[in-house]
Amino acid sequence: MSVKHQIARKDITDAGMTILSLDYVVGTGSNISVRIPGEELIAITPTGIAFDKMTPEMVAIIDMEGNRIDGEFEPSKALQMHLSIYKERDDINAIIHTHPTYCTALALARKPIPGAWEDMIESVGGCVNVSDYVLPNSNQIGPVVCAALADKLAVLLANNGLLTVGENLKRAITVAEICEKSAHSVLLAHMVGGPVPLPEQDCQLLKQFYNKKVCKL
Ligand SMILES: [Zn+2]
Repeated sequence: MSVKHQIARKDITDAGMTILSLDYVVGTGSNISVRIPGEELIAITPTGIAFDKMTPEMVAIIDMEGNRIDGEFEPSKALQMHLSIYKERDDINAIIHTHPTYCTALALARKPIPGAWEDMIESVGGCVNVSDYVLPNSNQIGPVVCAALADKLAVLLANNGLLTVGENLKRAITVAEICEKSAHSVLLAHMVGGPVPLPEQDCQLLKQFYNKKVCKL
């Protein structure tokens, strides 16, 4: 096993413990993957194993056609969805699917997170769309999720939960935290008249501002 594979597997189990500590996971329902730099491979969580029982060796190494290259455990059932996103988005190296309470509430109601909170618009790229509903084992799940994700870093999966992406796992986790804070705030805002979404032009300017700020860091 190469060092790069070891690092990717450890990064995934570490990220699993982080989302567990954030209370974004129930049982074995979440999944995490990363691209392995310089190789046409990804590392992805195994199916049916809780994060507090998962060791790096259990993480599956998979090629872009979905073949298991290394690892004794079956990959997550969301594998095809992850591969579709990597094929569609060159800028993405990490994907996390979680079930944070407030994001999941909106996913169940099939309501987007509106582009109302500046911080969310800056980091996600605008409102967070809801994908169309398809059964998890449908071969349409990849295209449907990619269409709703578009060029953003987060999407709500109808009747399911949240999916966030990023240039690395740290970013995908931060985006999930921002989405959950935003979903919570939006639901509270409905008690006092409802959130006021910002116009698309302002969303684009906020996004550009954030990208410049991140580039300077
Ligand atoms: Zn789910």
